[in-house]
Amino acid sequence: MKFDPANNIQDLQYFGEFGGVNPSISDSSTYTFLSAKTMFDTFEGNTEGCYLYSRHSSPSNLYLGEALAAMEGTETANVTASGMGAITAVILQLCGAGDHIVSSRTVYGGTYAFMKNFLPKLQISTTFLDITKPEEVEAAITPNTKMIYCEAVSNPLLEVADLEALSAIAKKHGIPLVVDNTFTPLNISPAKFGADIVIHSLTKFINGSSDTVGGVVCGTQEFCLSLKDVNDGAAMLLGSTMDSLRAASILKNLRTLHIRMKKHSENAHYLAKRFEQDGLKVVYPGLPSHPGHDTMKKLINPEYGYGGMLTVDAGDLDKANALMEMMQEKNLGYLAVSLGFYKTLFSAPGTSTSSEIPEEEQKAMGLSDGLIRFSIGLDNDIERTYNTMKSCMQELEIL
Ligand SMILES: *Cc1c(COP(=O)(O)O)cnc(C)c1O
Repeated sequence: MKFDPANNIQDLQYFGEFGGVNPSISDSSTYTFLSAKTMFDTFEGNTEGCYLYSRHSSPSNLYLGEALAAMEGTETANVTASGMGAITAVILQLCGAGDHIVSSRTVYGGTYAFMKNFLPKLQISTTFLDITKPEEVEAAITPNTKMIYCEAVSNPLLEVADLEALSAIAKKHGIPLVVDNTFTPLNISPAKFGADIVIHSLTKFINGSSDTVGGVVCGTQEFCLSLKDVNDGAAMLLGSTMDSLRAASILKNLRTLHIRMKKHSENAHYLAKRFEQDGLKVVYPGLPSHPGHDTMKKLINPEYGYGGMLTVDAGDLDKANALMEMMQEKNLGYLAVSLGFYKTLFSAPGTSTSSEIPEEEQKAMGLSDGLIRFSIGLDNDIERTYNTMKSCMQELEIL
């Protein structure tokens, strides 16, 4: 049977306590045991089927985790309080002093800062490289390498990782391929191509209403259980636990993700095509001019398209800033970081979300000053949006 992530979510039924169509929200931090023996067994690691304490697990978090595992086609999943909570827990679970990571150089600014500035304090080193060159990835692997880390479609340059090639390398060396799939939920199913661990910031498309932060780690039963082990689990001990109320509200938003992703992609593709035709430098993986287009074509679940993110080069930082301010004045969207909202969001990554990356390295990876990153919204009349955006660009002599 064809793997269909939206059907997998659709088919999950959870009922509430009184026959409610949504599951009841667990409103407890701690849980009673009928016998002292069961409590002892639970601390010994036999946590199957019972709840202990809500930092370890809670019914609402398990519902959301199961739904996300169904979406990604992994055995199970653990939700966390934020995307960074998921990323840091995975890395610290897999790496210790003396270990090494091979990572894409175009990753989320917080991930980059964690690897570059924080992990050296624990004697964990990272080689950052161009993830679109699998031969460089393989050459960078040492006996101490504990993982290959990348984003399926990267922030902010929208580079596409050849997950099949990377997973073949990871398997050959007996290390996991860890993929942050935040930019492309439903569009890409990394586990299908051999990713061992799939991470999301739920804050973005999956929740989609810019009202909460959240994260998830999707993987094997064994790995997810190890993350919440009471004795040495990074998620359990570092404590980035999602609150049950939040888990319940994210689960409700997940139910409409397939409709939203289709519209985000359709709108982004439309704008990318029109602005490229107008002569702008546009980066969108759905355009044949994008160097990762063929790779992405091979990876996507076609009905969801190429995603809702695109970048436009406004020439220089002053022009980029003027354009963003004007677009905000015209109510085209908001000058804000983050992504996946119903309204278009835009920011200049060089001076915001990727400012953790030193200027020289930004240049080396093609992150120019005038680059604007767009998360395209759910506008019903995208032609109207295009026309208004274009008039802003013409007024500022960008077009
Ligand atoms: C936002 C983001 C993160 C971090 O997630 P938070 O929920 O903000 O902690 C990680 N990776 C990517 C690709 C992101 O866009």
